[in-house]
Amino acid sequence: MNRKRWIRWAVGTPLVALGLLVGLWQLSRSWSFQLLGELYDRVETTEKVVALTFDDGPRPGQTEAVLGILKRHGVKASFFMVGENIERNRELAARVLAEGHQLGNHSYSHHRLIFKSPSFIREEIDKTDALLREVGVEGESLFRAPYGKKLVVLPWLLKQGGRKHITFDAVSRDDETQDVDLLTSRVMESVRPGSIILFHDGGRNKPGTLQAVDIVIGRLRAQEYRFVTVSELLTLGGITPAAETTARTAARARRRAHRSRRGGGCGDRRGRRCR
Ligand SMILES: [Zn+2]
Repeated sequence: MNRKRWIRWAVGTPLVALGLLVGLWQLSRSWSFQLLGELYDRVETTEKVVALTFDDGPRPGQTEAVLGILKRHGVKASFFMVGENIERNRELAARVLAEGHQLGNHSYSHHRLIFKSPSFIREEIDKTDALLREVGVEGESLFRAPYGKKLVVLPWLLKQGGRKHITFDAVSRDDETQDVDLLTSRVMESVRPGSIILFHDGGRNKPGTLQAVDIVIGRLRAQEYRFVTVSELLTLGGITPAAETTARTAARARRRAHRSRRGGGCGDRRGRRCR
């Protein structure tokens, strides 16, 4: 190799590698794009309608406080629950459903589902599906990736199961701060007809979140917005569940639940991991 070609190779190769890494990082964190399958961060509509969503619960105290605010305003929301938390708080998960809210799958252990094997990711989804069915969820179960992270394997598995990946376009970032003014203004500045709004009812106690949710609902109501569940929002946007794939997913979740009741499988409470 002559000197010029060697210099081009020595400079170009790390630059290409860096570009690829930056591209993968951007892809993993995009709320509005994935390589395969269906991803929705909002829906196209001119109607003043939004979906409020809460992640990482159910958590005693915080989830109940959120339910109280929603009930007072007569608002239905969607809760993307973590399987481990459903296992610890089955009655609370069932109560959220009984109060008319939608429950979605937010993985079993809330690991980032990138650079993980297909079997690990499949177990994370299926175990939580089974738990959601056990607390009463019927029909299509929507999925949201922990931290919104995905690359290729997760979208591929979701596509195989005919599953929709639900992200968000109006984000409070209430996992970073509990400053009520900041949380409120972040949502109000980005919300528009068809938006999916993100708050958290899991993790540590979030008094700022509770106040911000109350204020956001009041301000959006004053602007004549309606609140619907994510599935209702998708329907308003002309996106409907595929009955066939829904039935197939439900049947697989039932088989998994049956196997899990017989005391097997990875990721169970005896500490076996799915890798
Ligand atoms: Zn989360």
